[in-house]
Amino acid sequence: KNRIPIEVIEILEQLRDQGYKSFIVGGAVRDLLLGKNPKDYDICTDATPEQVKDIFKKVIDTGLKFGTVTVLNGAFSVEVTTFRKSRATENGKRIKIDSFSKSPEEDVKARDFTINGLLFDGDKITDLVEGLKDLAERRIKAIEDPQDRFNEDALRMIRAIRFHCQLGFEIEDATYASISGNAGMIQGVAQERIRDELVKILISNQPAKGLRILHHTGLLKFVLPELEACHHFDQKNVHHDKDVFDHTLAVIDHTPNDLTLRLSALLHDIAKPQTFSLDEKGVGHFYLHNLRGQELSKEILTRLKFDNKTIDIVGTLVCEHMSKLQVLRHSTIKRLINRVGRENIFQLIDLQIADEAASAPPHNFKILEALKKEIGRICDKNEPLAIRDLAIGGTDLIKLGFEPGPEMGKVLDMLLNRVLNNPKINKKEILVTIALQFKQE
Ligand code: ATP
Ligand code: MG
Repeated sequence: KNRIPIEVIEILEQLRDQGYKSFIVGGAVRDLLLGKNPKDYDICTDATPEQVKDIFKKVIDTGLKFGTVTVLNGAFSVEVTTFRKSRATENGKRIKIDSFSKSPEEDVKARDFTINGLLFDGDKITDLVEGLKDLAERRIKAIEDPQDRFNEDALRMIRAIRFHCQLGFEIEDATYASISGNAGMIQGVAQERIRDELVKILISNQPAKGLRILHHTGLLKFVLPELEACHHFDQKNVHHDKDVFDHTLAVIDHTPNDLTLRLSALLHDIAKPQTFSLDEKGVGHFYLHNLRGQELSKEILTRLKFDNKTIDIVGTLVCEHMSKLQVLRHSTIKRLINRVGRENIFQLIDLQIADEAASAPPHNFKILEALKKEIGRICDKNEPLAIRDLAIGGTDLIKLGFEPGPEMGKVLDMLLNRVLNNPKINKKEILVTIALQFKQE
């Protein structure tokens, strides 16, 4: 109890002072018992949202329809939700209008897993679902009949896998079997909700394990059919001793824990089944792998309702993930930095290092380390990367007698090339001289 913020205890007690039942419930109780600090606290009560609003000064209507309001107390905001009862729906879609209940037991039984069904009143735990036992034995088990739970809300199938990845608990056999038997129901769930769980799987400590279970339960072919297609897709070349699915999972596991990077790892070879083919001699070739990879990544992330910035960056990283062989020339590195952006260029190198680590030996990390160092130097010195960084511009060139249009484009390109190879000459007088020489030739 002494680990619970006083602000949260106050809310519990004020509800009780007014004659209502109130408990901390769900993830917070689970995390407290596991010795972790909960990210947020949820309280459930028999008071209706209107009654909760009458008691507290600062209340936000978060989800009135679902019986949830957010109570602000000092630095804390706590979601306070009226007890609900479960109502099965036909196709596994989330219950739209929940019906309220007066009983904590009904509320707990409308939740997903036993470890998420514990109540804490500030003094003692109330366990109506054998959650304590499953917590001690590190088990993710649906409350009562898994089939009923997944019928009510099919997203719970992915949530089970997400909790497995976050907590390292095993999914209980009947629950697992029910996921396998009902995987198709995930098609009725909104993409945003699926995305939120996928994100949590990806930034957990064992993202690859989660994806493997998604595949094994049959969920993956509905959630990410493009990755499912990578399973058993053998690329038959010396760099890979695994199929594209296994390789992708290995890359994710080698990637630092960052959502953009993990998404890029997830999608880096997503176009391979479409872009890879063998010629008559049995030699593998890529056709527009980079561009198709970028396109497909954007398509997938758009479908999953990711934000535009994430879609853009991941698309770029996927497109450029193989741009590592031409590191010898200075100008190529700078053009690469310019395409990827200074903010994301190190993520690209991290992706490439993970890709290398997950491919068959011999590994060549040296070239990537050298590239990283060189990029660091270029960025530190703030060396020019693009036409916009040149010490001369279109207006200057017009004054020198150049025509706007293709001619000017050609001059600027030529000047950029010279400056990329030798940043010292990025001075107006020098560039003017070079431009005039070019004009005479
Ligand atoms: P996290 O640490 O990620 O917040 P959490 O267990 O708190 O994990 P939330 O999604 O915040 O998960 O949900 C809070 C609680 O609400 C859960 O512990 C569970 O009791 C209940 N819950 C949430 N989503 C569902 C659902 N789809 N079906 C049933 N119960 C749910
Ligand atoms: Mg939570």
